[in-house]
Amino acid sequence: MSDIVQTVKNKDPHENEFQQAVSEVMVSIKPVMDRNPEYRSAKILERLVEPERVIMFRVPWMDDQGEVHVNRGFRIEMNSAIGPYKGGLRFHPSVNLSILKFLAFEQVFKNALTTLPMGGGKGGSDFDPKGKSDNEVMRFCQSFMCELFRHIGPNTDVPAGDIGVGAREIGYLFGMYKRLCNEFTGVLTGKSLNWGGSLIRPEATGYGSVYFAAEMLATQNDSLEGKVCLVSGSGNVAQFTAEKLLELGGKVVTFSDSSGYIYDEEGIDKEKLAYVMRLKNVKRGRIKEYTDKFSSAVYSPVDANADSNPLWNHKADCAFPSATQNEINGKDAQNLVNNKVKLVSEGANMPTSPEGIDIFIENDILYGPGKAANAGGVSVSGLEMTQNSMRLSWTREEVDSRLKMIMNSIHKTCLEAAEQYDTPGNYMNGANIAGFVKVVDAMLDQGVV
Ligand code: NDP
Repeated sequence: MSDIVQTVKNKDPHENEFQQAVSEVMVSIKPVMDRNPEYRSAKILERLVEPERVIMFRVPWMDDQGEVHVNRGFRIEMNSAIGPYKGGLRFHPSVNLSILKFLAFEQVFKNALTTLPMGGGKGGSDFDPKGKSDNEVMRFCQSFMCELFRHIGPNTDVPAGDIGVGAREIGYLFGMYKRLCNEFTGVLTGKSLNWGGSLIRPEATGYGSVYFAAEMLATQNDSLEGKVCLVSGSGNVAQFTAEKLLELGGKVVTFSDSSGYIYDEEGIDKEKLAYVMRLKNVKRGRIKEYTDKFSSAVYSPVDANADSNPLWNHKADCAFPSATQNEINGKDAQNLVNNKVKLVSEGANMPTSPEGIDIFIENDILYGPGKAANAGGVSVSGLEMTQNSMRLSWTREEVDSRLKMIMNSIHKTCLEAAEQYDTPGNYMNGANIAGFVKVVDAMLDQGVV
């Protein structure tokens, strides 16, 4: 297995995040490879780490002052063994090939775990929507789609949102796709309700991460009732994680953004959460402003170069990292353990560094890795695709109950796969193994392609 990681490093030495994601999976699947020699002779791993297609393009756009800017657009079509490529678009200045390849790689296994027929992909741009006017965001999205449209389609590749891409951006992207292709199809998910979106899609990732956490606690006859919870981020995933936690009796005490975090020892109740939703989704403000409104909270700026993030050093029972990759390093993980955290459910993708994961596992923390715990978003995207092809809309209750069923089934699948390969209770191994087996068996069936 180490030879595959070495090959990946040799081919693209600067792609640290991609190497990290590949290494994690390779460690988990070693026993599967040992029991199934046919995978080795079919060069399954070599094929799995090479995207089926990488698309990279220029995105020129004009700001409100008439100045021209040029960003880079990407789409990684990683693996289509079990269905059309499916995965979000991320607009953030940090976006590069390494980050999108890691996200696309993770997406392949996550989508397999959902049981829905979706392959894995990811895309985006180094464009920063922060501080841009609606018109600037619209012009950018239109220019982005002017290239992307030739590579996607309802049976080929179906993008969705991710960091920096919410309902507004999906609307502008869809409008341009429809104009270019002259067809109204379910080519994007995360659409608004009145033109093909699904109920519960905005809530799905956060709700799903909490459902997964509840399932993990239930294995110890415990529940979220009364649990103090640290939530990072304050975007889509963080907001709906908090909403579901409140509903299930949890107490949420933190939110963050890339500038800093707030700690509200009295708890962020429904009214305060509604304020955060307006602040972030309508006003597009910063989390610091929370303390202007609620004096029970303290704001601390976060130094990205510090050796730990103080958000993870508060007394709590559960942690829900819901912002970005590698936001919990080894020291943060140790702080969480020292503070007696019992459970970590990853709403974000790969938010914990490899050192952090080792610390959680060594200390028997209930650790739900992102590819399992945050699969609720893509699951409801899959349900949105189904509703689009059937040209009907399910009720809120119906979608939510399907989401809950899928999260329960992912939880069960992870536990069974971990047990089968002699690491009982290790959700990371379980998720990697179950996702891997489903995808590579499909690849074997389809020959060398
Ligand atoms: P949003 O853009 O809605 O929110 C992202 C949040 O994370 C913001 O609060 C943002 O702060 C913060 N953030 C982003 N980058 C950084 C950074 N480098 N350092 C610190 N904070 C940062 O995105 P989502 O909520 O949709 O996504 C959050 C995570 O969940 C991502 O890892 C994403 O891949 C993952 N995810 C999302 C899914 C979805 O359905 N949306 C599905 C599955 C996973 P600021 O405003 O300052 O940038």
